Amino acid sequence: MQIYGILGYPAKHSLSPAMHNAAFAALKINAEYKIFEKKPEELEAFLSSLNKEGILGLNVTIPYKEKVIPFLSKVSQEAKLIGAVNTIKVSAGKLEGFNTDAPGFLKHLKEDLGFNPQGEVISLIGAGGAAKAVAVALCKEQAQTIRIYDLDKDKAKALVSQLKDNFSSTQVLAMDSIEGLQIEDATLLINATPIGMKNIDPLLINPDSLHKNLLVYDLIYNPRETKLLSLAKNKGVKNSNGLGMLLCQGVLSFEIWTNQKAPKGLMSQVLLEKSCC
Ligand code: NAP
Repeated sequence: MQIYGILGYPAKHSLSPAMHNAAFAALKINAEYKIFEKKPEELEAFLSSLNKEGILGLNVTIPYKEKVIPFLSKVSQEAKLIGAVNTIKVSAGKLEGFNTDAPGFLKHLKEDLGFNPQGEVISLIGAGGAAKAVAVALCKEQAQTIRIYDLDKDKAKALVSQLKDNFSSTQVLAMDSIEGLQIEDATLLINATPIGMKNIDPLLINPDSLHKNLLVYDLIYNPRETKLLSLAKNKGVKNSNGLGMLLCQGVLSFEIWTNQKAPKGLMSQVLLEKSCC
């Protein structure tokens, strides 16, 4: 039996095992996707044991997306640029790293939501790991402008400087306040912070800034409808939670491991069943 899994700490809450195990079963691949919850001091030994344990692939989540990089033989160009790996493939004993968060986000945005970021003005809240993947994806697609706001202003500035070094067709700006995002002029608003996961979390934006020409994309998928998304819904503004991104990154990881087309419809159905409302 082939073994795959998710590496993280914590990782027990993950929806990935259900999604990937359903896909393996549907394609009659004799494989199991497990949870590998490892403490930081166990990371190196675990990664060195993959070949011996017959583990052929991993997803990587918090807090290891950056920490696994020194242990890999090869890292894709995109993962290098983002500075994070969320997928590892083991072949001939060598560990190869990829990032499917960025192309997963883009696949969902373009193919499922019908939004082409080329030439668009985008407001991005957050400059952490997920925001970085999203911003790289949007720059690759030649968005016109990306305005970025993070509570930690140095983090936003560092991300902007890195994007400027690597992409010349997109204007990228770090804003000092959330008002600086100028959502009124944007066609895409993205929340890439965890604010919205808890009931008591505040709404980060001015409700009046939402408009009919905007798509509101919240990367959070638990809960499925954050305060931000419910505001957008009530105002008749197009909106999406992060389940589609989660699905698409999973589809891409599955295809990297198996070289087979992933059963996306089935994986989507499993995620909807397993995610909380
Ligand atoms: P992260 O690395 O911790 O980044 C979050 C960033 O948001 C941090 O820089 C944080 O600043 C900033 N922030 C916190 N509160 C803020 C506020 N009020 N205003 C502006 N910025 C604020 O987390 P992450 O890994 O990027 O994940 C972010 C969210 O995306 C999580 O909810 C995660 O579940 C979701 N996500 C979804 C998918 C998907 O497939 N749908 C994939 C990845 C992540 P400080 O450092 O100062 O706190």
